[in-house]
Amino acid sequence: MKVPLLDLKPQYAQIKDKVIPEIMEIIENQGFILGPKVDRLEKEMADYIGTKHTLGCSSGTDALLLALMALDIGRGDEVITTPYTFFATAGSIARVGAVARFVDIDPATFLMRVDQIEKVITPKTKAIMPVHLFGQCVDMEPLLAIAKKHNLRVIEDAAQAIGSKYKGKDAGTYGDIGCFSFFPSKNLGCFGDGGLVSTNDSQLHERLKGLRVHGGQVQYHHQEVGLNARIDALQAAVVSVKLPHLAAWTEGRRRNAALYNELFKNNPEVVTPIEKPDCFHIYNQYVIRVKNRDALKAHLGEKEIGCSVYYPLSLHQQKCFASLGYKQGDFPESEKAADTTLALPVYPELSREQVEFVAATINAFTKK
Ligand SMILES: *Cc1c(COP(=O)(O)O)cnc(C)c1O
Repeated sequence: MKVPLLDLKPQYAQIKDKVIPEIMEIIENQGFILGPKVDRLEKEMADYIGTKHTLGCSSGTDALLLALMALDIGRGDEVITTPYTFFATAGSIARVGAVARFVDIDPATFLMRVDQIEKVITPKTKAIMPVHLFGQCVDMEPLLAIAKKHNLRVIEDAAQAIGSKYKGKDAGTYGDIGCFSFFPSKNLGCFGDGGLVSTNDSQLHERLKGLRVHGGQVQYHHQEVGLNARIDALQAAVVSVKLPHLAAWTEGRRRNAALYNELFKNNPEVVTPIEKPDCFHIYNQYVIRVKNRDALKAHLGEKEIGCSVYYPLSLHQQKCFASLGYKQGDFPESEKAADTTLALPVYPELSREQVEFVAATINAFTKK
């Protein structure tokens, strides 16, 4: 039985009838840049997330860049984040000329350890960038208390966490700015690259809006040097068509995660992901931990079961960040996670039989 890590075709089948006329309408009107489709998406997303403003942009990476720029973070500043995340988190910090300062992760959740943040605060620290990795939120309450105490800004990397909740509120509504991605493999993906920033601060919203179009609110008049970081009308329309399905798709992911948990329950060789009691996990990835990860990965490949390692090399060990001065062993839990974790197929349209086949294959292999 073939089980891909992600198959977007069954999702497309559910939206095809609605999305094609939307796309055709834009093509017929030849209005590709911003406009009513983007305005509509921004309103819908603000309602969905529960925030005052959102602003569509060109990618999750550019959402992070816009957020850093809007908060005046740049050369000489430090931003505290996790080394166990997608590259863009720290990449965007470096791109604005700031320095990423890492804290290790909690091995049980793979999320940054909030109790380690104060240890790395210096007079140069300007912000904290928590990453709601795999679809579960960082402990935002203590994090916000630290930010308040030290007068730091908070940028949430919610690229993997749309609809994820912490204490009843959505990811991306806790910090100064929340950053989302519509990359196709995220829970709410478009037909290419796209992203979004959210904020409850109207002044920040205006600043972000200007930064999205070369730093000028009035065309050809520039207050500052911004980016070309707009979302296409076509991509905004795709996201709008998908949004009403998101809650059901999330439930599908949660159902598959619960089924895996049940099927791995009696196998001590497989450590399953945990959902914290005050969180609503959206399982952008369902990530297990096993001892012989690479052997298991190869075995699953032979059985035509898709799986992937997120992420095989922690950011403090990346060549491009050598100048940060970290070395192997500095963040042992991140390094251990990079060596032992494996993401399994969890997308909502998987059949029960497929999930059972994946679990049975893993159980048979690890018990050998
Ligand atoms: C996907 C992702 C991003 C970047 O989003 P893009 O839309 O691919 O630029 C940033 N941070 C995390 C944690 C991500 O998973």
